[in-house]
Amino acid sequence: MRDAIVKSRRKTRQLMVGDVAIGGDAPIAVQSMTNTLTTDIDATVAQVCALEEAGADIVRISVPDAESARAMPEILAQTTIPVIADIHFSYKMALLSLDAGVHGLRLNPGNIGSQDRVERVVKAAQEKNISIRIGVNAGSLEKEFNEQYGEPCADAMVASALRHIRILEDMNFNDIKISLKASNIPMTVAAYRKLAKKVDYPFHLGITESGSLFGGTVKSSVGLGLILADGIGDTVRVSLAADPKEEIKVGFEILKSLGLRHRGVNLIACPSCARQKFNVIEAVQELESRLAHIQESVDVAIIGCVVNGPGEAQEVQVGITGGYPTHTFYHDGEKFGRIKSHNMIDALVEEVEKRAADIRRKEQEG
Ligand code: SF4
Repeated sequence: MRDAIVKSRRKTRQLMVGDVAIGGDAPIAVQSMTNTLTTDIDATVAQVCALEEAGADIVRISVPDAESARAMPEILAQTTIPVIADIHFSYKMALLSLDAGVHGLRLNPGNIGSQDRVERVVKAAQEKNISIRIGVNAGSLEKEFNEQYGEPCADAMVASALRHIRILEDMNFNDIKISLKASNIPMTVAAYRKLAKKVDYPFHLGITESGSLFGGTVKSSVGLGLILADGIGDTVRVSLAADPKEEIKVGFEILKSLGLRHRGVNLIACPSCARQKFNVIEAVQELESRLAHIQESVDVAIIGCVVNGPGEAQEVQVGITGGYPTHTFYHDGEKFGRIKSHNMIDALVEEVEKRAADIRRKEQEG
C-alpha cells in the first residue's frame, strides 16, 4: 500500500449541484467548462457530453447574454450531467438561468447590482435549492480591496470573498462554495489557507489562466497539489488553454496522484534507459490510448527492466517487467508468466479490461 499524503480533509458543509454532493465527505468533484458559444446548442451539447464521457462530474457554461440564457433549456434537455451557469454582473442572466433549470450558479453577489436584485436572485435560488459559487479572482478584485491592500494579494482576495459571503449570509443563504483564483500560485495557496481558517463552506479549487496544456498542467498540479495536500478542496477545475477534456484528465491525475480519488487506469512507468528490454515510451503511449475508456481504478506498472520492475509490480494489479528474450507478466504482485514483445500490449489491455469488468460486476452486485 502507498502512504496517503492527505491525512485528513478540512471539514466542510455539504451542498448539492444536481445529484453531485460537494463538501463534507463527498468525493472531490472534477469539473470543467465549455468553450463553445452557448448559443450554438449542438456544439455545446456535444461538448458537455464529451466532458461527461471523459469523467466530468459537473460542467459550467457561460451565460453572457439573453440569447445564451434562452439556449439553456434545450442544452439541459439534451444532457444529463449537472450544469452550472456562469454569470458576471447580470442578475437577469442569473434569473433566466434559474428558470431554465440549471443546477448551480457561479456569480459574485456584490457584482450583480442593487440589494433588491441580489435578493431576487437569492430568493429564486433558495426556492429551487440551487447553490451559488462565489468566484473571487485576483485579476478582477473590487477597487476598494486593491486600494486597501495596495495590490492584489491573498488578504485582499479573502476580504473580497468574506464580503460576498456576508451578502448571502445576511439573506440566510448558506448553500455557498467559494473559489479564490489567481494565476500566481503562492498567492492562490495562501488565500485558500487563510480563508479555510475563517469559514466552513466547501471550496472550489483552481489556478486561473494557468496556460497551455503543458505549462498549465505543471502549474495546476503544483498549486492544487499544495492546497489538496493540506486537506483543502471539495471540487477542482483545472484551467487550460486546451480542449476542456484535457482539464478533466489532468484534474483526475492530480487527485489520483494524491490518493484522493480513483478513476481509470493509474499507469506507473519508468522513464526508460539503455537497459530497457522493450520500448517503454511507445508501450505507454499505446496503452494510454487503448485504455482511455476504462473508468474503473486499475493500477498498472510498465517497467523496462528488472532494476525496478519486480518492486513496482508488487504494488499494482497488473505489471510487466522487461526481460530477454521475454518479459515477465505480473498479476497482483505475483509472477504470472512470460510474454513476448509482439503480444505484450494486447495481453495487458485484455487483463486490464478483465479487471475493470470484475470491478463493475462487484459494484453491481452491491
Ligand atoms: S527500470 Fe530499467 S529500463 Fe527503466 S529506467 Fe530503470 S534501469 Fe532503465
